[in-house]
Amino acid sequence: MNLIMLGPPGCGKGTQAQRLIDKYGIPQISTGDLLRAEVKNGTELGKEADKYMKAGGLVPDQVVVGMIKNRLAQTDAQKGFILDGFPRTVPQAQALERALTEAGTPLDAVLNFKVSDEMVIKRLTNRLVCSSCARPYNLAFKPPRVEGVCDVCGGKLALRSDDDEGTILRRLEVYRRETEPLVLYFWERGLLRDIDAEAPEQVVFDRTIEALSDLLDVDG
Ligand code: AMP
Repeated sequence: MNLIMLGPPGCGKGTQAQRLIDKYGIPQISTGDLLRAEVKNGTELGKEADKYMKAGGLVPDQVVVGMIKNRLAQTDAQKGFILDGFPRTVPQAQALERALTEAGTPLDAVLNFKVSDEMVIKRLTNRLVCSSCARPYNLAFKPPRVEGVCDVCGGKLALRSDDDEGTILRRLEVYRRETEPLVLYFWERGLLRDIDAEAPEQVVFDRTIEALSDLLDVDG
């Protein structure tokens, strides 16, 4: 199953993608995680990307598209993938469409996670992320069992450097301007499935499974 998770920062798409992996074993590919790994490793790509990420802007399309094409060519992505945080612009979506058509692996669906700006701010200002496996937690809605420690891998939890309120507002503005046009783009292609994501994690997961029921029946 080839999926895209679409929605503003903090809509819960990373969390829902993680739950789909746990249940169905489809790899999640998050461009944000890939970029943060490049930054952490101090690569040239990471140094270039860091400037945009710190400011809450978008990393240039050609950088992200090259990175995602390499990732999609890896063996684990051949049996399906969940894209989280990509595409974020219409040119990225067009580049993806071309790459998937060439590879003969078209998209099955685009899940559109809908939440208000107020909810985004509330979620992101309370977010902690595992510095080792990137699992997200939330001090208000989903705290870890042991303070500061990932329930799953024992890694250290940290605030993301772009989760301060000023940068969150900028990321939201960028989302509405650059990424939201993709809702219409994928709707026109008959791929869009809306999910009301302003609910507890389990409820949103049930809605996600429901929205994918025809595809999950086929692929198990
Ligand atoms: P995320 O983890 O998806 O919230 O992404 C964190 C940051 O990484 C974003 O604010 C952007 O600066 C950058 N980023 C992630 N994915 C993309 C993308 N598809 N295109 C451009 N920039 C991206």
